[in-house]
Amino acid sequence: MNDIRDDAVQGFRDTFGGEPVGVWSAPGRVNLIGEHTDYNEGFVLPFAIDRRTVVALAPREDRVLRVASAFADEVAEIDLADLDPERLHGWAAYPLGVAWALGRFGADLAAVPGADLYIDSDVPVGAGLSSSAAIESSVAVALDEVWHLGFDRPTLAKVGQLAENDAVGAPTGIMDQSASLLGRRDHAVFLDCRSLEAIVTELGFAEAGLELLVIDTHVDHAHATGGYRDRREACERGAAALGVSSLRDLTVDDLDRARTELDDVTYRRVKHVVTENQRVLDTVRALRDEGPTAIGELLDASHRSMRDDFEISVPELDLAVETAQANGALGARMTGGGFGGSAIALIPAEARSRLQVAIDGAFAEHDYGIPTTFVVTPSDGARRDR
Ligand code: ADP
Ligand code: MG
Repeated sequence: MNDIRDDAVQGFRDTFGGEPVGVWSAPGRVNLIGEHTDYNEGFVLPFAIDRRTVVALAPREDRVLRVASAFADEVAEIDLADLDPERLHGWAAYPLGVAWALGRFGADLAAVPGADLYIDSDVPVGAGLSSSAAIESSVAVALDEVWHLGFDRPTLAKVGQLAENDAVGAPTGIMDQSASLLGRRDHAVFLDCRSLEAIVTELGFAEAGLELLVIDTHVDHAHATGGYRDRREACERGAAALGVSSLRDLTVDDLDRARTELDDVTYRRVKHVVTENQRVLDTVRALRDEGPTAIGELLDASHRSMRDDFEISVPELDLAVETAQANGALGARMTGGGFGGSAIALIPAEARSRLQVAIDGAFAEHDYGIPTTFVVTPSDGARRDR
């Protein structure tokens, strides 16, 4: 099988000539549970997956940064002294934004050498698996090492987030970078989005004979920014009306009061976030005390909450979830921001092919485009490979 690390080294040679001094990589992620809880300072439970973005890198004699990718035709080039969000565009804003953000976190960019970076990846782009965090995190660990910066992983996660927020211009949270940098084989990253404390939590899927199936519906959520903003505003409105700084400060015991004090729509938005936080905590406890076979109902409940209360599902996601549930999945839910993208299903390994046939059949019957389904394995976070 083709090794993506070999591809990256070959790409480096073809593009820049010479040999890289090292190869670093970082994974994409899926979020097992905890949706739209991050910006409410709540809990999320993502894990790093066995799809990675690889960076082959060599320092330069001068102060120029050059980045190339197997996904892009042009080589982007900038002098270290010119790094600024205003000057970064397109895909290169991710890797070059990371270099800029390292400076914002205290790296002395006047004292480091330039570098050539070649990037390759087997994380599908735009499928909700965070190819963006994978490229940011791989570049962050590579530059951190060759520039001798010594930043810890939580700081590198913030570096990736700053690059994505300010250089790319996407107002995303810290979950994806945390999963990509802190993930561990067979484990999820239980992240408190208020304190940013992260605890790795054993998943034990393989030992229990389980797999996590991703069902990418290919429904494009790119035009859903209005819906996303609207949900954020509803959460802020609900928190303000109930006298708390964020919805994190509410528990399910507060929902009766919320129902009487809020309009119906705001109440249901609040209810999703509050119950979803509780489901993340329940999932972590169930994994610890009973193992992964015990979390199926929590995944199902999370989907119902997003479908009925937060109203961010679409018919294709509902069909994927229902078909999985009806064909042997222990639990299933849409994952990601909503309005499209992927669903996940926790399945017995032996049910995989039956389930894939059932999903393809159901989508064909509804005249929906055939989804892509594939298994993801909880894997190690960013690392040096060579
Ligand atoms: P995702 O859900 O995959 O994170 P995003 O829109 O957040 O989707 O990020 C995808 C973007 O990140 C791509 O359009 C591209 O600009 C950049 N990107 C991700 N991986 C690569 C790569 N290997 N090479 C070049 N650009 C990449
Ligand atoms: Mg992304």
